[in-house]
Amino acid sequence: MTMIRMSNIHKYFGRLHVLKGVSLEVNKGEIISIIGPSGSGKSTLLRCMNQLERIDQGSIEIEGVIVEAAGDTGVKVTASHPEVRATYRKMGMVFQGFNLFPHMTALGNVIEAPMLVNKMAKDDAVQIAEKQLAKVGLLEKKDAYPSKLSGGQKQRVAIARALAMNPDIMLFDEPTSALDPELIGEVLSVIKNLAQEHMTMLIVTHEMGFAKEISDRVIFMDDGKILEDSSPKEFFDNPRHPRIKTFLEKML
Ligand code: ADP
Ligand code: MG
Repeated sequence: MTMIRMSNIHKYFGRLHVLKGVSLEVNKGEIISIIGPSGSGKSTLLRCMNQLERIDQGSIEIEGVIVEAAGDTGVKVTASHPEVRATYRKMGMVFQGFNLFPHMTALGNVIEAPMLVNKMAKDDAVQIAEKQLAKVGLLEKKDAYPSKLSGGQKQRVAIARALAMNPDIMLFDEPTSALDPELIGEVLSVIKNLAQEHMTMLIVTHEMGFAKEISDRVIFMDDGKILEDSSPKEFFDNPRHPRIKTFLEKML
């Protein structure tokens, strides 16, 4: 089943052409790593996917409904406005910089969206939050404020917070880039556990070993385009494009 279909996406920031005709299909249960140099449009692609940014051309279909269409493609949005909103709630996103609410405990951070967005009763939200905090190994830290948590712990809370909304798809934008090296492993291992549960995931990462290990597909972006979309084996052992060879040589 196709979870996401992005067709010929173009995105501009002013005159800067950031996505130059990106097409991408994500199937249910697939784990896709997105790799590429800084400024190539990786974050923008994820942000367009969950409507943190609007596209200028192309269309985005999620779980069978067209939730966004722009430009002269002739494609029309088929989802109603509430349907569009509900669809975007099926996507959880985790950012490089954790983005926890500093004035709330770990538990407070995780119950916030289920209560506010899903209008869940507090007791029910707490139950879900505790389950998700346990899953990322942080139940004993539920009453701690972010300032008392390490970067790795903060990121694990951020993952629990996204999971508390029961997403069908998780988007990770360089989830370990802001972490000290010794804290990267604990976050990657939480993501690996999600992979074992067959969560559909797109992960922008510079962790090549991790990408090779967990991905079903690796996508390489360069200058607003997808240069390669292949299996991790093909990608790492035999990249077609010289740009990718150069990039990998620098990374490994
Ligand atoms: P990556 O995640 O691959 O490093 P980004 O998607 O963040 O790349 O950025 C792609 C290009 O778009 C860069 O040139 C960046 O400076 C620019 N850009 C990103 N976000 C904005 C924005 N909100 N306003 C203007 N330019 C932006
Ligand atoms: Mg980025």
